[in-house]
Amino acid sequence: SAPARTVSLDDRFARALPELAVPWRADEAPDPRLLLLNEPLAAELGLDVAALRGPDGVRLLVGTQPPDGANPVAQAYAGHQFGGFTPRLGDGRALLLGELTGADGSLRDLHLKGSGRTPFARGGDGLAAVGPMLREYVVSEAMHALGIPTTRALAVVATGRAVHRETLLPGAVLARVASSHLRVGSFQYATVFGDADLLRRLADHAIARHHPHAAGAENPYLALFDAVVAAQAELIARWMLIGFVHGVMNTDNTTISGETIDYGPCAFLDAYDPATVYSSIDHSGRYAYGNQPVAAEWNLARLAEALLPLLSADQEQAVSLAVESLRGFAPRYQAAWTAGMHAKLGLPAGTDDAVVRELAEELLSLLARDHVDLTSAFRSLGAAARGDVEQLRLLFLDLAGIDGWLDRWRALDPDAAAMNRVNPAYIPRNHLVEEALDAATDGDLAPVGRLLEAVTTPFDERPGLERFAAPAPQDFGAYRTFC
Ligand code: AMP
Ligand code: MG
Ligand code: MG
Repeated sequence: SAPARTVSLDDRFARALPELAVPWRADEAPDPRLLLLNEPLAAELGLDVAALRGPDGVRLLVGTQPPDGANPVAQAYAGHQFGGFTPRLGDGRALLLGELTGADGSLRDLHLKGSGRTPFARGGDGLAAVGPMLREYVVSEAMHALGIPTTRALAVVATGRAVHRETLLPGAVLARVASSHLRVGSFQYATVFGDADLLRRLADHAIARHHPHAAGAENPYLALFDAVVAAQAELIARWMLIGFVHGVMNTDNTTISGETIDYGPCAFLDAYDPATVYSSIDHSGRYAYGNQPVAAEWNLARLAEALLPLLSADQEQAVSLAVESLRGFAPRYQAAWTAGMHAKLGLPAGTDDAVVRELAEELLSLLARDHVDLTSAFRSLGAAARGDVEQLRLLFLDLAGIDGWLDRWRALDPDAAAMNRVNPAYIPRNHLVEEALDAATDGDLAPVGRLLEAVTTPFDERPGLERFAAPAPQDFGAYRTFC
């Protein structure tokens, strides 16, 4: 049989944590067609690209023909969704096919989304439409290219089955790869439904998989929590620096690995405004751009609560350890953000953190006042550092404000070349994403292909790609995203 059949998947999660794993199968796909295959990622995973493109490979990627010996499962987890707790949430439309060992020896989950109803589906149909699965593909691959920890997209396969949304849409399955799918909600589930043994096995599994140094600590479970706090603080700083708005920062969408996960109603900022909310279901603005650090810290507090029984036999002691560790979030976040701004502003090594922060905050408030596009503004700073300030000045109404800022900044001798390696020219701009997904839904994949080409090499400006670097046209209007 074709080599794709020989893809070898482990079932470590299912074996270590059977209480969190419901053996399950994907729905049949009447007419599976490969829409996108991530060849570099496939190669990184040691998979045979030609075989994945063949009929057996496509059936593997759509879930209907799992590799021999695989044990696909729907994962159980809980979740605080917009602040309200659902104890039994789980994968309603997803399956963990198993774990792959990459060419570098690392263990990664191979996971499907949109593969049919599971016992956790509740009212959902278990399906996904082509548009949202391509959105996850494009945005997660853009995030990866930007150097931000994220799940990766391996493939999107159209199923040939229609999905009922506001209209009938073509259905698809996304095959994605993650360093794991352990979430804050996994720990919450173990605390609600399990005993001390399950919680400990879950924590040990997380330590072995993501934060192995914690195993040797005096208090391994406290070290695990510290490590997750650090990973999330770093991650959210990266989101803020690039202008990423996740949109659904529920505890079930917050990873233990520190990878970005579950690209639903996500979007990138255009005009800089901390109050920006794109998701049509985020009525209160809980997950607004500027609230993301607070939302992450809140989610980590929920993880701390779940871990309490492991932190100390003395409950008061456990609480004080957790509180102390959680206090580390804000300084870690600040440090990561300041280091990121240091690089984005191209400042010389040794520039004082207070100077970096003051310059960055002043620039951001000028951007906010004039509704300036965040990505364009930072990219234009590269030219401005070389003395060509006109691109940047064109973005502003208040020229006195930006001119004053430019004088102070240029006096510090910023490094233009270094800046162009951290301030992207190309991100998945909202109007381009919509245009590409609309075309794909109508059967034309060319625009998605061109968008991917731009955003997966985001720092290297190329002729012919000008429209991928430009802000949305005025008539694009206020952007809304839907799950
Ligand atoms: P999300 O916010 O997209 O991560 O989804 C939250 C929860 O809803 C998870 O338990 C999902 O598996 C579930 N879910 C989302 N969409 C569907 C669907 N169409 N059918 C079944 N479950 C779904
Ligand atoms: Mg989710
Ligand atoms: Mg979703």
